[in-house]
Amino acid sequence: MSKPIVAIVGRPNVGKSTLFNVIAGDSIAIVKDTPGVTRDRIYADCSWLNYNFTLIDTGGIEPDSSDVILSQMRDQAQIAIDTADVIIFLVDVRQGLTDADGKVADMLRRSQKPVVLCVNKVDSFKKMEADVYEFYNLGIGDPIPVSASNHQGVGDLLEAVSDHFKKDGSESDDDDRPRIAIVGRPNVGKSSIVNRLVGEKRVIVSDIAGTTRDAIDTPLKRNGREYILIDTAGLRRKSKIHEDLERYSIIRTVTAVERADVVVMVIDAAEGVAEQDAKIAGIAHERGKGVIIAVNKWDAVEKDDKTIYKMTEKIKQTLAYMPYAEFVFISAKTGQRLDKLFELIDMIIENQSMRIATGVLNEILAEAVAMQQPPSDKGRRLKIFYMTQISVKPPTFVVFVNDKKLMHYSYTRYIENQIRNAFGFRGTPLRFIIRERK
Ligand code: GDP
Ligand code: GDP
Repeated sequence: MSKPIVAIVGRPNVGKSTLFNVIAGDSIAIVKDTPGVTRDRIYADCSWLNYNFTLIDTGGIEPDSSDVILSQMRDQAQIAIDTADVIIFLVDVRQGLTDADGKVADMLRRSQKPVVLCVNKVDSFKKMEADVYEFYNLGIGDPIPVSASNHQGVGDLLEAVSDHFKKDGSESDDDDRPRIAIVGRPNVGKSSIVNRLVGEKRVIVSDIAGTTRDAIDTPLKRNGREYILIDTAGLRRKSKIHEDLERYSIIRTVTAVERADVVVMVIDAAEGVAEQDAKIAGIAHERGKGVIIAVNKWDAVEKDDKTIYKMTEKIKQTLAYMPYAEFVFISAKTGQRLDKLFELIDMIIENQSMRIATGVLNEILAEAVAMQQPPSDKGRRLKIFYMTQISVKPPTFVVFVNDKKLMHYSYTRYIENQIRNAFGFRGTPLRFIIRERK
């Protein structure tokens, strides 16, 4: 099951980033070998008690006039409604209830999404009670007082948030149709691919002035199998502010990828691969998803018998942290190789769930160690005792060693390659957890 997504919405200066940082704390996952992935805190992987979730800060840059504030808040709220499983609506006890708060609360209420109302800057829990009660007037439930900067009340807030995980959290478990996210920069052809695949069945929903929103999930049947397409192309915002657009597209990508089994990363054959592509692909890598690089607009490229090879090499260089990614050269315009795309999707879905028996795994390990001696440092040599696969999606292995410090990244990579040589695992990242055993 995918992790629930929690979004924070609220006026500028109510303390969204402060609260975000408090909740994210040290639990921000940093994948060291993913270059180009933004470290500004738009999203973070968080855990609290036994719950894991992805936290999103929908707040962009600060608008300077009040009418802009309202329209920006509406945009943020819409993003949260589109993508989140639970929304934290943050207000400020010092500024009190504002008109904009009321309007956004109406919008959130109508969306039927679980909303947790949180009142920030309640720095003294004794004095502020009456002021907190004022927020009942928003009609979206009990206000939960916190002081983000003092780290107070955050446990109660997270308890209220996680209550919604159990009831109406994320997708139902019984839907086992594979979920495919189509991601990529603007204009690479995401919409065209989706349209080619599902044609007129794609529904356009326009619910709020200024935003046109596509149905987020589209069921799709192909060669007798059913899939769910998670489409990031649909959301076209009218915001003129570049930073906001960029933030929205990252949020959109993160939340789509989070819910997906396989990510189809679309690259424009004519434009080639760029830094921004590395950023987007990095999101899939961090989250352990299966990845297909779909080089689109193949019809529009002048090519000879070496073009595929050259382009593949170029992309592999830019996306060096995901050597496992599969490639396919497609055209949304002509439909070329879309069947191949689905063959890859099916294969990767199997690989993501593949389990290797411990006995077989350790045979491979013994051979690998015999072929290439483990590294040593100051006379002490790495010993690998044993390994076992503990989970799938992505396949995750625990390796027991005598000393973690001796297990260099390059040796882990070597073991990974041996496992891949033996079992394939094409298209999916593998995770290794190194544990010490004396
Ligand atoms: P954002 O614009 O909603 O992301 O708000 P920020 O997180 O940037 O916070 C705005 C201001 O409110 C900053 O000066 C914070 O230090 C302050 N602030 C945040 N949380 C609290 C709090 O719990 N109490 C008080 N007194 N100030 C806070
Ligand atoms: P999105 O922003 O990623 O959803 O991209 P669109 O699907 O809107 O496509 C952007 C532009 O590329 C449009 O003008 C499409 O007609 C064009 N396009 C998309 N796919 C192909 C393709 O396979 N071949 C060619 N020649 N053009 C394409």
